[in-house]
This record gives sequence, C-alpha cells and structure tokens, in this order.
Amino acid sequence: MEVFDMREFDGHELVIFGHDAQSRLRAIIAIHSTVLGPAAGGCRIWPYATTTEAVADVLRLSRSMSYKNAMAGLPFGGGKAVIIGDARTVKTPELFAAFGRMVDSLRGRYVTAEDVGTTTADMAHVARVTRYVSGLGRSPGEAGGDPAPKTALGVFLGIQAAVKFRLGRADLAGLTVAVQGAGGVGYHLCGLLSAAGARLKVADVQPRAVERACDEFKAAPVPAVQVLEVEADVLAPCALGAILNTRSIAGLKAPVVAGAANNQLARDADGEALRAAGVLYAPDYVINAGGIISVAREYYGGTEAQVIEDIQGIPARLTEIFERARHENRTTNEIADQMARERLSHGREPRRLVA
Ligand code: NAD
Repeated sequence: MEVFDMREFDGHELVIFGHDAQSRLRAIIAIHSTVLGPAAGGCRIWPYATTTEAVADVLRLSRSMSYKNAMAGLPFGGGKAVIIGDARTVKTPELFAAFGRMVDSLRGRYVTAEDVGTTTADMAHVARVTRYVSGLGRSPGEAGGDPAPKTALGVFLGIQAAVKFRLGRADLAGLTVAVQGAGGVGYHLCGLLSAAGARLKVADVQPRAVERACDEFKAAPVPAVQVLEVEADVLAPCALGAILNTRSIAGLKAPVVAGAANNQLARDADGEALRAAGVLYAPDYVINAGGIISVAREYYGGTEAQVIEDIQGIPARLTEIFERARHENRTTNEIADQMARERLSHGREPRRLVA
C-alpha cells in the first residue's frame, strides 16, 4: 500500500499507527491540517476488513474534518482516529487508556471525541490519560456532552434552509421527510421535524429504532432498502456514508437531500448527477457541524447557550453555498470544497471561542 500516493492522502500532515498488545489496540490517527488550530475529529471503531480500508477511511474522514471545522469557523484543524475492531467486543477501559496515551503522545496536535462506535463513557476512559479529548459529560448549562442532539439541531435548521431555497417554503408543516437511520442523530432529528409539523418516513436496520420513531413521532416505517427511493420532499441520510451514487441518484424522488451522515457522496462527481437531476444537496460537512461546534465549545470552555447560538449560523452558510452554486452553475459540494480550501490556504484567523 502506497499511502503517500493514495487519492485520500491529499497533503496530510501526519499519520500514525498505534498498537498495544495487552489491550489489543490497533489504531490510526490522521492529521490533515493544523493550519486553523489543533486537528479535531472523533474516534471511530469499525471492523475494517483490511488495514488499507482503515487508512483510506481515516484519511477521508480527517480531510472532511478540516473542511467541516474551517466552514464552521472553528479554531480547529482536521483530524480523525479509527480503532480497528468490532465495537460490540473490542471496547475495554484498557483499550481506551492505550488509545488515550497515543493521543497524548501528539501533545495537543490532535483532539479526539466520540464518533461511530464510541460514546461519552468511552471518552471518559480516554480522559483519564490525556486532556486532549472532548465530548465528555457536562454540568447543566455547560457546553458539551453527547454531540448527537446538537448535530440534529444543525441538520434541522439546514433542512429548513434547503426547503426554503429549493421549494420556496418558509416552514416544514405538511412536508414529508424520509429519514435513513434513527440512531443518535436521526432520532433527535425526527423529534424536531415532528414538532415542526413534518410527516416522517423512517428506515433503520434495527427494528427497535424504527418502532421508537413510529411510537413517539407517528412516523411511517419504510424498509431500509427502499428509503432512498420513497416519495418525500426531503431525504435526510443519517446512517451511512457513500449512499449517493449513480444508481441511487437515478432512483431518488426527493428534490432535497439534507442529512447528517458523513461522506454521503460516493464520489465528488456524484454531486453533478444530483444537480443534473434537479436535487438540491446540502453538503454533509456543512450541515452536520452542530456536533463539532459543541465539542469545540466544550474544549475551549463555554455554555450550551453559546453552542446553540453558533449552530444558528449553519443555515446561512448553506444558503450562501446554494446561491453561489446556482449563480455559478456548479454543484453545491464543489462550492463548499472551494470555500473550505480557501479558508485553509489563507489560514484565515478563525472566530475566537474564548474571550
Ligand atoms: P448511530 O450509530 O447512533 O445511528 C446510525 C443509525 O443508522 C443506527 O440506528 C443504525 O442501525 C442505522 N443504520 C445503519 N445502517 C443502515 C442502513 N443501511 N439503513 C438504515 N439505517 C441504517 O450514529 P449517529 O451518531 O446517529 O450518526 C449518524 C451519521 O451521522 C453517521 O454517518 C455519522 O458519521 C454522522 N455524524 C454524526 C454526528 C454526531 O454528532 N453523532 C456528527 C456528524 C456526523
């Protein structure tokens, strides 16, 4: 495997591999950029079939974090960690302590948090050995804790902005939103959408997650294999990445795609297929920044009210991207990438989070 030649490598500053025999840790930390601040991004646990697959994923996710943090105006660069293994069996306090020592060895160049497969409780184990961790428990009124509800809030506001732009509708009352994945983010998103009067169609591979959304929000269940093709005004992908490809885009019925999942486009070029099909796509790393905004406020010290205020900036950023894309006849993902790269290359002074 030629890491430097991988398409995903894309100028990464640092990639380290960590191993601890006792806890059976096998982890990779990728730091894409520290131009705007310490590289921040969560720690994912996933049963990658090969190391190459894990390297490609951590590099792709780490670059996305650079773009996400830059676009959210945070004093953070981009990084990510992956632990290779099955989250149902590999997790122990010792594993997270070994991972924490690996994070600590970077002396603050990388700040970790939870991601797919990890929780606030896991991060508490990491925090025993390093201070370069966020997404921990919090006292009432303070920033921090589980980022998922904050991500959901940003996605909800982003959906409102996309609906206004594409459908000319000022509210969501009576519109149908298909939600793929009713987990940490999807569940909270369903709650916000339901309270705003939207009708929900929900799919998840875990039947209990669907049942909960149906019971609590009167959602209609949809088979997981059909959710991308259902009749809806908005499709909100909140499960997996790479779900938008040539085949799935051809079957889409919703004129708006706006959801939390990272790396929704299988390839950058799929943004063009969406545009050609008249689908407005909200770039994932712009709309799903609520969680990292919470992590940043927690890390630098702040209140929950400040987190919520910061998240209110997401719809305006999306609308700017939508308008530029329409004006320049380009895709929304191209415009977002260009704006993020400009911020990174200029090393623009980010908005300070602490007085
Ligand atoms: P989660 O693991 O809590 O929930 C994901 C849900 O998707 C689970 O209920 C799972 O069963 C379901 N799912 C898996 N495969 C599916 C399929 N094929 N069809 C339908 N459902 C399926 O994860 P989460 O924290 O809610 O995050 C969801 C997505 O948002 C992920 O892509 C994550 O990377 C991204 N994201 C999360 C946050 C956050 O704050 N948690 C922040 C930014 C981005």
